[in-house]
Amino acid sequence: MTEEVSTEIETLGPCKIPNPMPLSPSCFVEDNTRIILRLNVDYLKAQLTQEKPVISLEVAGPRPYIYFDPSKLKVGIVTCGGLCPGINDVIRSLVMTLYYSYGVDRILGFKYGLQGFIPRYGHEVIELSPEKVKDIHSMGGTFLGTSRGHQPIEEIVDTLERLNINLLFMIGGDGTFRAANKIKEEIDRRGVKIGIVCVPKTIDNDIWLVSKTFGFNTAVEMACYAIRCAHTEAIGVPYGIGLVKLMGRHSGFIAAAATLATREVNFCLIPEMDFDLEGPQGLLCKLEKRLLARKHAVIVVAEGAGQKYVQKDPPEYDASGNLKLGDIGKFLKEKIEEYFKQKGLPVVIRYIDPSYIIRSVPANAEDRIFCGFLAQYAVHAGMAGKTGLMISYLNDQFVHIPIKEAIKKRKQVNLYGRFWLSVLESTGQGTLKNS
Ligand code: ATP
Ligand code: MG
Repeated sequence: MTEEVSTEIETLGPCKIPNPMPLSPSCFVEDNTRIILRLNVDYLKAQLTQEKPVISLEVAGPRPYIYFDPSKLKVGIVTCGGLCPGINDVIRSLVMTLYYSYGVDRILGFKYGLQGFIPRYGHEVIELSPEKVKDIHSMGGTFLGTSRGHQPIEEIVDTLERLNINLLFMIGGDGTFRAANKIKEEIDRRGVKIGIVCVPKTIDNDIWLVSKTFGFNTAVEMACYAIRCAHTEAIGVPYGIGLVKLMGRHSGFIAAAATLATREVNFCLIPEMDFDLEGPQGLLCKLEKRLLARKHAVIVVAEGAGQKYVQKDPPEYDASGNLKLGDIGKFLKEKIEEYFKQKGLPVVIRYIDPSYIIRSVPANAEDRIFCGFLAQYAVHAGMAGKTGLMISYLNDQFVHIPIKEAIKKRKQVNLYGRFWLSVLESTGQGTLKNS
């Protein structure tokens, strides 16, 4: 966490309408309720001694007064980017909170991500109600559908204006935040009063200034299942190797957490770390030693790891402009087979790529609870006229973070931190680099 974080949350205007929720006064949260970003005594001492400001974050929660008149408000909801367990729980909870806690009964769902705002695609707009969403959390995926690909920002804001939408909830990852930021800039340029509130969705848990994103817990649980299967396969034959490719384009949190949770992984490869294949410290040599010693091995590789070996030349991009990754799982399988063929060691590799199974399942119990809170806090923020923010879970609290801060960096595994050190202790893999 760096010092240069700007934490002020923009609002559409003063809140003058009493919050209709039947809460005791102490349950409402005032805007000046803040938590400290860096829970570090040395940092605090240094800032205070130098009379510098201590960076703090606005705590999320229902405000005693709100900006929007619920009876006149029309709300939009959209989901963008890839799938992640729990999206439907968030949609459901947004609708339920808007309807039952605030009395907002005009809620529109935009289909297939940003395409849903663009008339030429012809996607229907869905009227959302408690009845419509009551069962959607039992399904994986997104009830509203999603898409990748840039859409004209002016046309998106035209649609919001045409439909009289004053509050838009966007569920998505870093790309969605970039789009949200541009939509907000266009809204500001036009001087219209439309709030933009984001709920961070990324299975990789790679969003800056967020401790934990929804779906991550479910993803790790599913990843553990795949690793346990790979382990069972590996121990069932002499020189068995279980190779599991997991999600994690730029950040290896799923692979690392699943490694810690299963304790069966001998090599965990993540995008943040560089590794060699060849040489005495390289993966192949260390794998050979492991196989000779224990007769089986389990390797977990995040999809973004080892890209130096499989990078597409020239680089290719998806519709949203994200770099397409080379297939490190398939590459490793082939390289390992080739290496042991030359060595005359009859290895048996079981390669498991469970990526779509992990993404598309319904959320587990912990994620469900978490999704419910995220959505409720998003509604409280939106109703109070807050805009250009995401709801984040940080330092054990739900807080408001400006979107433009969240897109400045990506959260990654710190290779010199205690979390990764635990992974290294669990695998015993060492550096996997020759120099
Ligand atoms: P995830 O990576 O978790 O799947 P994401 O939100 O990052 O989620 P993307 O497909 O990258 O997924 O982006 C979501 C939407 O936001 C897409 O429609 C994409 O075109 C749009 N978008 C991404 N970056 C920008 C940008 N810089 N400007 C405008 N729109 C953008
Ligand atoms: Mg993304």
